[in-house]
Amino acid sequence: MTDDAGDYGFETLAIHAGAMPDPTTGARATPIYQTTSFVFDDVDHAAGLFNLQQFGNIYTRLTNPTISVLEERVAALEGGTAACATASGHAAQFVAFLNLMQPGDEFIASKKLYGGSITQFNETFPQFGWQARFADPTDPASFEAAVTDKTRAIFVESTSNPDGVIANIEALSAVAKRAGVPLICDNTMPSPYLYQPLKHGADIVIHSMTKYLGGHGNSMGGIIIEGGSFDWYQNDKFPLMTQPTKAYHGVKFAETFGNFGFSVRAKAIGLRDIGPSLSPFNAFMILNGIETLPLRMQRHVDSAQAVARFLEGHAAVDWVSYPGLGSSPHHALANRLMPRGTGAVFTIGLKGGYDAGVRLVEACELVSHLANIGDTRSLIIHPASTTHRQLDEAQQQAAGAGPEVVRLSIGLETADDIIADLDQALSEACGSGKSAA
Ligand SMILES: *Cc1c(COP(=O)(O)O)cnc(C)c1O
Repeated sequence: MTDDAGDYGFETLAIHAGAMPDPTTGARATPIYQTTSFVFDDVDHAAGLFNLQQFGNIYTRLTNPTISVLEERVAALEGGTAACATASGHAAQFVAFLNLMQPGDEFIASKKLYGGSITQFNETFPQFGWQARFADPTDPASFEAAVTDKTRAIFVESTSNPDGVIANIEALSAVAKRAGVPLICDNTMPSPYLYQPLKHGADIVIHSMTKYLGGHGNSMGGIIIEGGSFDWYQNDKFPLMTQPTKAYHGVKFAETFGNFGFSVRAKAIGLRDIGPSLSPFNAFMILNGIETLPLRMQRHVDSAQAVARFLEGHAAVDWVSYPGLGSSPHHALANRLMPRGTGAVFTIGLKGGYDAGVRLVEACELVSHLANIGDTRSLIIHPASTTHRQLDEAQQQAAGAGPEVVRLSIGLETADDIIADLDQALSEACGSGKSAA
């Protein structure tokens, strides 16, 4: 099922897109092609593959049949033309920017991002001469104001991890179009089941497949999906896409490969020379996860809504930052952009501050204390004592990770069990005990 993907519904694509019965064995599930390399028919065949004149597999650092199915599947779910899978979400970000940025170039990033992304942009990208400038995702004009002639991309999270700030992708897309640069959207938090940024004006989508796409907390992975409509030749900002590449006999990625040139370059240059390729085994695990994405995601958001409502009514809880609640300043935009729900990760603020946060994570019995999101299991973390402990209090506040903040990722257990565990843990942590609701 590869030709008419557009005619099928989301649930059908989640199970079938990119896959066919195995041509040699008839295997119906996509096999794990656990091989490093692939035999050439003859020397001409090998030459055609190495020159990018022919499609086929050479070596798993570049491409692999299990990974190709996963790439087609996620591209179909996001409404993109092609994709490049990577070893992790961070690798996807790095490989995407490697297609765009040269030393001295800049990009504009939302200041509401996953903490690891802020660190990657601030601490490591400067080693390559890449400069991130930060802007406010609730104020598209702040992105416009940050545009310079060195800007090469705009980067936002569709829903920010952890505090659920919803980016107005349509407004940001207009800013990116005026600047002549692609809008890159990290769509990890909602997953394509809840939101498809390419349909709202984004040009490139990134995922940490480690989270909802894999969905079971057992496999790292990342992916870059291209929308296929960005015109790389509209200005002279993207020579890496438009100018001849020495290593491939003068190939111009945007010209030769058209609406999948970004993905081809990500593999032929990014994976080839940097090497963060996904393992075929992880591709298999993530494909299995994706088959149930629509069912899982709906349960995630239904339970998150119930848990958020419970916590909002609890005496020990000062506030709940969840776009699914009427109290969120992002509620109206969230409802318009994500009518099926706004995800299952959110933060709460405890009246008891830092000490209550520490006691709460330690008092949970069913909900696991760890640093991840998008698992079948419900997860909790107190950022100020863990992921954000290196920051001072002002930096923690700016990152939405103040001393009183706890992040939850609502899993697929019985919702009443999650609520009961949080209720007992809040009693333990905050003394008072009973819910005000
Ligand atoms: C986890 C995460 C990442 C990084 O992904 P890894 O797979 O851990 O490298 C990037 N963006 C968001 C929103 C994330 O939640």
